[in-house]
Amino acid sequence: MLNFFQQHGHPFAKLGNWGRQSVRNFSQATDPLAAYGITPEVLGRLKTFLQAEDSRELYHANPRRIADRLQLSEQQTLRLLVFALKEGIVTLNWDIRCAHCGGIDLSIKGLGELHTHHTCPGCRQSALTDADRAVRVTFSIDDRLRQLDLSADDPEFRGKIDTQYGVVSGHRLLTLQTFRNLFPRETIPPNESLIVRRVAILFTDLAGSTALYSRRGDTVAYSLVRHHFDHLFTVVDECNGVVVKTIGDAIMAAFTEPADALQAAIIMHQQLAQLNRQLQLPPEDELILKIGIEVGPCISVNLNGRPDYFGTTVNTAARVQATSHGNDIAVTGTFLEDPNAAALVKDYVGQASQLQLKGIDEPVAVYHLHPNAILI
Ligand SMILES: [Zn+2]
Repeated sequence: MLNFFQQHGHPFAKLGNWGRQSVRNFSQATDPLAAYGITPEVLGRLKTFLQAEDSRELYHANPRRIADRLQLSEQQTLRLLVFALKEGIVTLNWDIRCAHCGGIDLSIKGLGELHTHHTCPGCRQSALTDADRAVRVTFSIDDRLRQLDLSADDPEFRGKIDTQYGVVSGHRLLTLQTFRNLFPRETIPPNESLIVRRVAILFTDLAGSTALYSRRGDTVAYSLVRHHFDHLFTVVDECNGVVVKTIGDAIMAAFTEPADALQAAIIMHQQLAQLNRQLQLPPEDELILKIGIEVGPCISVNLNGRPDYFGTTVNTAARVQATSHGNDIAVTGTFLEDPNAAALVKDYVGQASQLQLKGIDEPVAVYHLHPNAILI
């Protein structure tokens, strides 16, 4: 188990240590965050927050509340908190809300402690551990930095905050690229799976890459492919998604919001068009993306030590991607039922084709969206 996920026990178990010398001071603890590109101004705000805030704000704290306090976006805050986790400034909790009694189990400290079913310590009833409904992430200050007093654990206060701000689901953190990069070994246990009620799965592929390899030779073609991967990885991260894996010249990415996935797809096409111009590639060697997206429920699993997704939504996304002609985005009618995603492309949705997709019984309505029309 990694160091930063070590359980420090319930903070009140350490009350006997009151009066001991503080192990580290706040500046010593927070200064290393500058190496992650955190500006001195944000660092200052974080330091003040950790040092001076009411203790209730630092115990199983809702990241959205922290975002509000630090005047940062949710995405910026989650990144900052993941850096702070890496530096041992905060600890991460995977709190589970019971579907039966509404009680919240605060005892889960690592993904390795999450199981397919969770038994509520309050009412002893068992329920599926939905990564996006039951599990929410909160952060606590590391007690080596500041020991909280008894009043920190205030369920009523936390309940009010959650009602006011909403919660950040466990799945949201699982789709944060920064978390995946810094904690690659943090996964649920092998042979366990978590239900995710809604995830947008995006597949890309490079059109004509086999021909590109044979025309340009492996070294040149691979360097172009690497280049295109760098762009796609950045776009996915910036659009609040995570690259689940690469498969040959293709990527599979996951997003909690369908509109983020669609936005990512649009920017990917835009960036590849730019890249083609920059590299002055002859038309036959231009990098052209084929993209498909689907949204729906999935199961999240640990496959060979890496997080992965399985289920009909993943299969459909892959099949839909295969219908893309290049320079377009193939999505299903189900995907466009998401109002935010539909709003992004509302003026450009043409007729759906009813397609029989391999391995899927019923014909599926597939739309081919043309981002050039969207962008220009
Ligand atoms: Zn319960």
